[in-house]
Amino acid sequence: MNTLLNILVLPGDGIGAEVTAESLRVLDWAVSAHSLDMKISETQFGIEVFREHGALISNADMALAKRADAILFGAIGGPGYQDVPAQVRRETGILGLRKHLGLFANLRPVRGFAALGDVSPLKSDIMSGVDLLVVRELTGGLYFGEPRGVTGEAGARRGINTHVYTEAEIARIARVAFEAARTRRGKVCSADKSNVMEAGALWRDVVTEIHAAEFSDITLDHILADNCALQIIRDPKRFDVILTDNMFGDLLSDGAAAIPGSLGVLPSASLGETRKNGSRPALYEPVHGSAPDIAGKGIANPIGAILCVAMMLRQSANANPAAAAIEKAVEDTLDAGIRTADIAPTGQSPVSTRAMTDAVISRLSANA
Ligand code: NAD
Repeated sequence: MNTLLNILVLPGDGIGAEVTAESLRVLDWAVSAHSLDMKISETQFGIEVFREHGALISNADMALAKRADAILFGAIGGPGYQDVPAQVRRETGILGLRKHLGLFANLRPVRGFAALGDVSPLKSDIMSGVDLLVVRELTGGLYFGEPRGVTGEAGARRGINTHVYTEAEIARIARVAFEAARTRRGKVCSADKSNVMEAGALWRDVVTEIHAAEFSDITLDHILADNCALQIIRDPKRFDVILTDNMFGDLLSDGAAAIPGSLGVLPSASLGETRKNGSRPALYEPVHGSAPDIAGKGIANPIGAILCVAMMLRQSANANPAAAAIEKAVEDTLDAGIRTADIAPTGQSPVSTRAMTDAVISRLSANA
């Protein structure tokens, strides 16, 4: 693809900034080795911006974010956030960004790297070779439904949240999952609670209808969300794409995140509706946060952020060979036993954030 892609980089706070800096070195390699046409700009997001502007992102940068073809984000949070009012966090933090960009689809790939069998909480033969993708609806359901709140007097209060989905909301997230399955192994498993929830029964009906009408080349199964949680631990290799709603997706994707043994190796993407010009808002971020406990020490694992670059190249730039090269270089690096502290077995000296990235880049060059 040779269309200019505008990428906005928001490194953020703590290790967000550290791992993003390293992932950009990998992106630079891909741009040059694969002749990609990209304009990469970087701006601040997080506590420093708050101290200057009273918001976590400036209005001008929010406007840039809305126009970007893709955003590479690190993480925000940590020291100083006790001074950030809740509304400022909601409106100008990561939730605000997701809202302004209309990011309704969250994609969380999980791979069980064979080399990490010794750090995963699952047995090697269960985790090794896992390659699944959780597609979670991000803007509807129980977390946003109305009415909500707490009513009544002390002693007789009622807490209310509403689980609500429209057909249109279910259909659009189902399409994201089916389209993703077309680029993978062609299987979608939709997780719901259609046995006890009306909105869950509607979810199942609409997913079945969209499948029959538009995606009959894909294999569709349905599973109850509680059984899905069990199967993610017992037999995760059975899954290709797991499609689910906001709340179940929150739980299932975090459960699946345990498979590789560290939060530090997991990327994610959030996608919006395709724009009139054919581009699609997309934000890529490692699953982990700003990790104040290790920030500034240069020991964070950069692999999640590096795999975000691969996801972005595949999803937003259609640069599949470059993405595959990065994924292979990461796997080769892990196979060679190179480990940051979070994935180092007891007794092994870990490498730094930078040395891990150096190891990935040297394999990229060697494999090219
Ligand atoms: P966290 O993901 O930052 O850290 C959890 C644990 O995992 C820590 O012990 C940390 O050292 C470790 N860890 C995380 N990423 C790692 C990496 N790449 N390499 C090595 N070890 C890693 O979660 P937390 O401690 O609950 O939250 C810390 C801050 O991050 C909070 O302010 C929280 O609000 C914020 N946060 C932000 C995002 C985001 O910006 N999207 C997501 C989650 C948490």
